[in-house]
Amino acid sequence: MDLPYSLLILAVLLIAMFLAQVILRKRYNFRCADCGHVFSPSALVMKLTPHRFGTKLLKCPQCGKVTWAARMPKS
Ligand SMILES: [Zn+2]
Repeated sequence: MDLPYSLLILAVLLIAMFLAQVILRKRYNFRCADCGHVFSPSALVMKLTPHRFGTKLLKCPQCGKVTWAARMPKS
């Protein structure tokens, strides 16, 4: 009889992951490694692009180059 409990845990985890993504997106901008332009990627781009240790593979809207953009806290 532990199935409903497992589902509850799963639901809580999914909500927590969703909230973490929303918070992460609100808190951080990304800085182009090439020209230094700071930009905020869309939610879809955030989901689809690879990331590693505080950086993300993003295309800069300013210079158009794809770089490992550094995550920056929003001021
Ligand atoms: Zn750039």
